[in-house]
Amino acid sequence: MQRVDVVVVGGGVMGSAAAWELARRGRDVVLLERFGPGHANGASHGASRIYRTTYGQPEYLDLAQEALGLWRELESESGLDILTLTGGVSHGSPRRDDIAAAFAARRVPYEWLHPDAAAERWPGLRFEGSVLHEPSTAGRVHADRAVEAFQAVAGARGAQVRHDAPVHSIVPVPGGVRVSSDAGEFLAQHVVLAVGGWVNRFLGAALGGAAGQGPGFELPVVVTQEQPAHFQLRAGAPGEDEWPSFTHSPSPDLLGPGRTWPAEAYGMATPGEGIKVGLHGVGVVTDPDRRTFLAEPDRLAVLQRYVEQWVPGVDPDDLVPVSCTYTTTPDEDFVLDRVGRVVVAAGFSGHGFKFGPAIGRVLADLAGEEPDAPVGGAGPRFALRRLAG
Ligand SMILES: Cc1cc2nc3c(=O)[nH]c(=O)nc-3n(C[C@H](O)[C@H](O)[C@H](O)COP(=O)(O)OP(=O)(O)OC[C@H]3O[C@@H](n4cnc5c(N)ncnc54)[C@H](O)[C@@H]3O)c2cc1C
Repeated sequence: MQRVDVVVVGGGVMGSAAAWELARRGRDVVLLERFGPGHANGASHGASRIYRTTYGQPEYLDLAQEALGLWRELESESGLDILTLTGGVSHGSPRRDDIAAAFAARRVPYEWLHPDAAAERWPGLRFEGSVLHEPSTAGRVHADRAVEAFQAVAGARGAQVRHDAPVHSIVPVPGGVRVSSDAGEFLAQHVVLAVGGWVNRFLGAALGGAAGQGPGFELPVVVTQEQPAHFQLRAGAPGEDEWPSFTHSPSPDLLGPGRTWPAEAYGMATPGEGIKVGLHGVGVVTDPDRRTFLAEPDRLAVLQRYVEQWVPGVDPDDLVPVSCTYTTTPDEDFVLDRVGRVVVAAGFSGHGFKFGPAIGRVLADLAGEEPDAPVGGAGPRFALRRLAG
């Protein structure tokens, strides 16, 4: 059995970011990832995710603002281009005056635009309601490059990054946590559990009945197979470089399950692949080990109808679907917490990527605390116990 300081289980964006931050702090860290580099079985693959600070809650704004600087540090350490700031727009209803107020308080540059002015500026999109434009703090993150960079620089700083190394069990034992995997047995002082949609495979046993959570404890998360798609530009439409990242909340009488639009829409350009457009969190509930990776036809038809109406710059019939998992909590807030020696990173609810390196910092903080000390770190919004009742 190899004794190590920290074992990180899961090499998606969150586990990889944690490994980077832990290695930067000089911790002895092993990252165990079940699949090979660049795999597409979880939530962190592909070439684009929206980065933006468009949140009203201070906890998310703090993390988003922190992440911007850390993405730049990751770029300079790795030599890879990861974050591209294109500007971002949010439109529809309700008008998000709460976010504008938060921007004003933090001096985040923003402006409100009339929908006609926005359509003139970004003719590939249609707009409704007041348009909140965030010109300098929104864009996209290159997801594959980010994961590659975190792992590469963590490795360069001494972390052991092991692919094709599935973990089979995580069990607290006297003086540590025993982790059994295809890469061997480890006795760790702390474990960071960052396995996305697989969290409930490990959680109960990993917490070991601590803090009132029995060995059968599960988080009330729902894993879905989401299916945005890349749409090709129409002739004469603005080039990929000219698109902002965008989100749209259709009017409340048309929005929701069984209505015209089942959920809010989002999108951005993915250079070389077209414009990615998705409806947030409408995918089929799935088991992450038994996914079809196929777009469900009725949901795809709704997405095409959305694109036809609201994204005139692309061809709704010329598309390539994407398959990816969401692991969603009831309140769509994350779980960033520690029980004894086990740090839990879960439930990123389809909006976690942008915060990646800031979440890595939070996880490293939690993994730096004494097992019996009160939990510091992330704060009550992200507490595991809020979901334990
Ligand atoms: C379609 C889609 C669009 C999105 N768009 C955005 C966006 O625009 N902006 C944004 O901020 N966020 C976005 N997100 C959300 C973001 O991508 C996720 O929140 C984030 O990728 C979650 O990362 P993770 O590390 O928690 O999970 P994952 O990426 O799933 O990583 C978990 C890892 O654990 C590994 N693992 C599982 N079991 C084991 C085991 N037994 N042993 C070892 N390893 C194991 C898995 O192989 C996997 O690599 C989107 C997500 C999807 C699906």
